[in-house]
Amino acid sequence: MGALTGRTALVTGGSRGIGRAIAERLAADGATVAVHYGRNAAAADEVVEGIRAKGGTAFTVHAELGVEGDVATLWESFDRQVRQHATGTGLDILVNNAGVTPRGEIDETTAEAFEETVAVNMRAPFFLTQQGLKRLRDGGRIVNVSSGATRIALTDIIAYAMTKGAIDAFSLTLAKALGPRGITVNSVAPGIIDTDINASWLRGNEAAERSAAELSALGRVGRPEDVADVVAFLASDDARWVTGQVLDATGGSQL
Ligand code: NDP
Repeated sequence: MGALTGRTALVTGGSRGIGRAIAERLAADGATVAVHYGRNAAAADEVVEGIRAKGGTAFTVHAELGVEGDVATLWESFDRQVRQHATGTGLDILVNNAGVTPRGEIDETTAEAFEETVAVNMRAPFFLTQQGLKRLRDGGRIVNVSSGATRIALTDIIAYAMTKGAIDAFSLTLAKALGPRGITVNSVAPGIIDTDINASWLRGNEAAERSAAELSALGRVGRPEDVADVVAFLASDDARWVTGQVLDATGGSQL
């Protein structure tokens, strides 16, 4: 029996990168996992198939976030399918992971790019959580994926950093609001992780990879599993006394 056997989790952006690793890890720990995706149905299917091949339980949930009706679409899909895959209709673990990282200094950031970043990284997790609260069982867990960019000033992702700062304030405040229900709420702040978000400037560029690795006290670029393991800890009973916190999972970047 795994640490999360009998629990149900939803991971937004579970089709790729960090979210994929989180979905796989929570499933390996015994949770039934709803793998949310936006545009990449094939990638989400692959995650679910991989989980099932290892004896786990998972299903996909589709919703483009940051657009009108996104939250309702996501929860309708979750509600419709959860009965077939889990015992009960509720949720125990919500991981708000899906996010976008448009690059741009302050004078390069257009209103459109700013608004998309806010809609996906800030608005969607807020209302997804709001509408999820009636599904989330007492004693549950909310983990919000933030960023080391709230601690380290990276001028070329200024709008993104703002949205992640808001996520940390959300975790802090919601932790207080949900404490009476025994629900913990925390942020995890990754550093540079080798995912598609960074592919354009990192992959295949030895100099960029070297300087990204040098940012970390541990001397390498992060892997999605490095973050997934921290999320799994926060989702577990072992983290029952941790709430309202930002866990830095940057591999000691810029210490
Ligand atoms: P990826 O680009 O690898 O994956 C992003 C995931 O989010 C995909 O599953 C994608 O789904 C989903 N997604 C993105 N936009 C939308 C949308 N509008 N609607 C629905 N789904 C969407 O990103 P990472 O794994 O690198 O990042 C995951 C989280 O970690 C993000 O919140 C990011 O800000 C944060 N983070 C990442 C860091 C890094 O270095 N990689 C560092 C610090 C924080 P699909 O492909 O199906 O559309």
